[in-house]
Amino acid sequence: MSTANVAAIIQQARTRNRQLLTEVEAKAALSAAGIPVSETRLGRSRDEALTHAQALGFPVVLKICSPDIVHKSDIGGVALNLRTPEAVTQTFDTMMNSAKQSHPTATIDGISVQPMATAGLEVIVGVTSDPQFGPVVMFGLGGVSVEILKDVAFRLAPLIPRDAHAMIREIKGFALLSGYRGQPAIDLDAVEQLLLQVSALIEAQPDIKELDLNPIFVYSTGCLAVDARIILHQTTPIPGPRPLSATTRAALDRAFNPRAVAVIGDKRAMNYMWLRSQSTFQRKVYSVQIDERELPGIAALGVPNYPSLAAIPEDIDYVMTAVPRQVAPRIVADCAAKKVSGVMFFTSGFSEIGDEEGKRLEQMMVDTARAANMALIGPNCMGLYHPRIGLRNYAELPAGEAGTVGFIAQSGTHSITFSLAAPHHGVKISKAVSFGNATVLDASDYLDYLAADPETRIIGLYLEGVREGRRFFSLLREVTAKKPVVIWKGGMSEAGKRAISSHTGSLAVPAAVWTAMVRQAGAIPAETFDELLDTIKLLQFVKPTSKMGVGLIAMTGGPSVVITDAFEHAGLTVPLLSDASYQELSSFFTVIGGSFRNPLDSGHTIGMGQTSDNLERLLSILDRDPNIDAVVMDTGAGLVAGQWQAHPKTLEGLLDTLTNFASRSAKPFLVVLQPFALEAALLQVREQFHARGIATFATHQRAARALRLATDYWRFHAENSSW
Ligand code: ADP
Ligand code: MG
Repeated sequence: MSTANVAAIIQQARTRNRQLLTEVEAKAALSAAGIPVSETRLGRSRDEALTHAQALGFPVVLKICSPDIVHKSDIGGVALNLRTPEAVTQTFDTMMNSAKQSHPTATIDGISVQPMATAGLEVIVGVTSDPQFGPVVMFGLGGVSVEILKDVAFRLAPLIPRDAHAMIREIKGFALLSGYRGQPAIDLDAVEQLLLQVSALIEAQPDIKELDLNPIFVYSTGCLAVDARIILHQTTPIPGPRPLSATTRAALDRAFNPRAVAVIGDKRAMNYMWLRSQSTFQRKVYSVQIDERELPGIAALGVPNYPSLAAIPEDIDYVMTAVPRQVAPRIVADCAAKKVSGVMFFTSGFSEIGDEEGKRLEQMMVDTARAANMALIGPNCMGLYHPRIGLRNYAELPAGEAGTVGFIAQSGTHSITFSLAAPHHGVKISKAVSFGNATVLDASDYLDYLAADPETRIIGLYLEGVREGRRFFSLLREVTAKKPVVIWKGGMSEAGKRAISSHTGSLAVPAAVWTAMVRQAGAIPAETFDELLDTIKLLQFVKPTSKMGVGLIAMTGGPSVVITDAFEHAGLTVPLLSDASYQELSSFFTVIGGSFRNPLDSGHTIGMGQTSDNLERLLSILDRDPNIDAVVMDTGAGLVAGQWQAHPKTLEGLLDTLTNFASRSAKPFLVVLQPFALEAALLQVREQFHARGIATFATHQRAARALRLATDYWRFHAENSSW
């Protein structure tokens, strides 16, 4: 690409004070970047237009050329297929006149002339700029597909070849591109190439805010853009990626692993929630409180109290505080003076509520913390949780055990609820953070930290938005190649976005851009809390596969039918087994009331899970079957939970068989334990499965959805190595 030429063209438009480049200017820039466009020349007069037409060769196309007219056809500003010199001169005059009439104040450069191109299949490539993620490339089919059906695919720039390849195939109308009903197939490689060129162009020219190639004609070989538009940024574009600084990483590390912590301003009215949360902390805990009335309560908890942070005769690494907002900036200054590494504020009432005083106080805190290289966590958050060392952010959370799942949440409640629920699903937390207003440290900082944390193998996030979108995206793309990252995004609906601004003051991102970003980065998008937890549980317990064929075992007829629906609906397949499998099955399968195509309706054959040798045989057949990539068993818990309770041995036997299978088979194995109304009876059962390393799911749908999300992740990264 001739970068210098492109820059010169853009610079020229800037000096002419133009934000919208005309088709002639835009095509000059695109052509300098190596992108195939129809050669387009500006005719400032009728004679000049005619000369161009003669030089380019008939038939030609004439179009109005003005930085103030966006949609040329709408005002009769496009004339196709002009075959004679007379047609060109006449059209020149009528087009000029009608443009001047419809747009009396518009600057009109003249009329552009270009060869009439052979029609091809029409596609559209565009670029828009998201306020946080920067340039987003769009691909769609021409005409109604984009305008009415909104059948488009998005990817954040810069595109890598697999992005270009995938986005073309992602649109619903892809069949039309791949030789639909005897139509000749078109040159998809040329479209991929063009997408990559467009991405390279906007990376090299951050001045470009929007770009529109509409339409592009695609042929059996090659493609050609016949219309182009470029819009420049008014202001300087958003910042690019940056790594977590060594200082911040060290500060966070010390805050997550403190030798001594202090709780400032805890009180009876809050039931001493912060001090009580530290009852499990294995190292030193101090309290800072000057209110005499609170001192007996603090003494009763056995925590030494001091009138100020400075008065504590020891270094403090991490501070938790819930002081009123007016006092907050002073506390940050005290922490800085004490050389504290991290401070978290439960206190709210800052930028998230939008009043001037809140913003002013928050800015003071930020300035002080930055100057001191201190990790300011929040405000408006629950702060850090590191169960292994007993550092908690809620008094009911488990402590003392190390886990492997890291959790990062913008919301305190989601952070605590996840930390409370996860252990009941066999998922143990390595480190978690609720970070609220994200003033000094944002999601990217915590993600970068956990990505390098040796304790953390899987990362979950609850986010409402991110501040440095470009940084978040490029970091996420790196992290997912090493550790799975599951992201639950709140505020995906319009009304949900309103709630965000009142919650943490995040900038709202269009849902389509967000989802595209998550997919492109190879992360896992969860739509609900359950999906987030289910998928993390599955990733933790289950062996990976990148293929989609599921072998299903159910006990009885009805569940066999609906479990199949659930897995097909989630986009997985329930294939027939191999002939060899059917032959072996027919030798012992009890067909009365049961079928063994797939699903295997096998309650009779395996005595509702009690005939362990037959169950063993069934599982082995699925394990060997080449059509099957994952095995899922509905244990019929709604029918047998009572029996398990009355005769615990029956459950033990089943668990032995299943544990044995899960550990020897290389295929993912999932169990459905649907409680119906038997939650109480199944609570312990579920924990027994998890204790043995078997992932259970509450419904067919939840198992199916989690397996689909995980399979997408495994496949993405398996394929990624081939790009
Ligand atoms: P608009 O500003 O209205 O988008 P376009 O330049 O896209 O104007 O022209 C409108 C339509 O005319 C295009 O969608 C395309 O079908 C056709 N067209 C434009 N330029 C050419 C060309 N050089 N050769 C053939 N058809 C063209
Ligand atoms: Mg157009």
